Amino acid sequence: DANAVPQAPEDPLFGLMAAFRRDTDPNKVDLGIGAYRDDNAKPWVLPVVKKADEKLRNDPNLNHEYLPIAGLADFTSASQKLVLGGDSPAIKEKRVTSLQTISGTGAVHLGALFLAKFYKPNSNRTAYFSDPTWPNHFQIFNNVGIPQKTYPYFSKQTKGLDFDGYIKSLESADEGSIIVIHACAHNPTGVDPTQEQWKKIAEVIRAKKHFPFFDTAYQGFASGDLARDGWAIRYFVEQGFELCIAQSYAKNFGLYGERAGCFHFITSPSTDAQSVVSRVASQLAILQRSEISNPPAYGARIASIVLNDAELFAEWEANLRTMSGRIIEMRKVLRAKLEEAGTPGTWNHITDQIGMFSFTGLTEQQVLKLREDSHVYMTKNGRISMAGLNTHNVDYFAKAVDQAVRA
Ligand code: PMP
Repeated sequence: DANAVPQAPEDPLFGLMAAFRRDTDPNKVDLGIGAYRDDNAKPWVLPVVKKADEKLRNDPNLNHEYLPIAGLADFTSASQKLVLGGDSPAIKEKRVTSLQTISGTGAVHLGALFLAKFYKPNSNRTAYFSDPTWPNHFQIFNNVGIPQKTYPYFSKQTKGLDFDGYIKSLESADEGSIIVIHACAHNPTGVDPTQEQWKKIAEVIRAKKHFPFFDTAYQGFASGDLARDGWAIRYFVEQGFELCIAQSYAKNFGLYGERAGCFHFITSPSTDAQSVVSRVASQLAILQRSEISNPPAYGARIASIVLNDAELFAEWEANLRTMSGRIIEMRKVLRAKLEEAGTPGTWNHITDQIGMFSFTGLTEQQVLKLREDSHVYMTKNGRISMAGLNTHNVDYFAKAVDQAVRA
């Protein structure tokens, strides 16, 4: 009886977007959704994506047949190289298996589903998420019945990493827990560990036999440098961990709605590694078949054209630097304006943080005041999408923040 179905709350982020659209104030500012905007607050189709799209449309052999269950092979193999580095021993030793997924969300889901079925290191078998994390992590792992806990991540005092809390939590977790880790440009805080801190995190994860589950949604988008943004994952793979990776092409290719992504499972070096990977691959294929049968082709074809062509690849890197450069510039301008105005508080975290988001430290009350008084829309936790700022509205936003903080 469907009468028993309770009303679910609206997704907070999509609700915020709807409220923004309803607002008729000409000065309104959208700092909610995590999608890149250009300096005129417009969505940006990467020029290299336009080129690849044209190539694709002019291809006389293009058709709309199904892809294989694991997706487009040229896309998944290029995705391995992108995330692990072209000369990764894991690829050479055939210790990686990859499936194309419904963007990053689908990759997280496929990984969670696989772990729910096959990963049973202890009776509790809990997944740990950073506090805070991308809220969908909880929903996705909940759907597959994996119990959840959080590890401390963000320090309200420093607006940086609570490294001690993070490490202590990893140390006290049951052996063999699943540790979900943002590979770079942590969402929602923009706070990443330093390389020294990553090394210590890896050490504790190894000592406790935890399973690292990387979520990478911002490679190249964060710093403009693919290797730099991929450093943590590559370090863990170098250290010989068995791990998995959920990879999204939404932000770094601007292919949000095309749902291009990839799931990778990497096993440790061993004489049996190829056999392990082949068995894992066979099970993943069955899960994929029952869930989506086969992934959508269009976005993966576009990414694949770019990733497999040296000239287009270089152009893509330039496009990445355009996006990350504009965001980094907005961080600098915003911080400078707040500091010049003497806005109470410290603002160095605006430029210390990286990627799409900044955790401003604004309270829920201040966030609501900004919405009511200044028509500025951000999530209640004080997260702003830096991509929503531009040379036309950053001054307005800084003044609005100044007012809200002083109120
Ligand atoms: N993980 C994180 C941390 C994200 O920020 C996002 C994008 N908001 C995703 C995964 C997945 O997004 P998508 O499904 O659009 O690739």
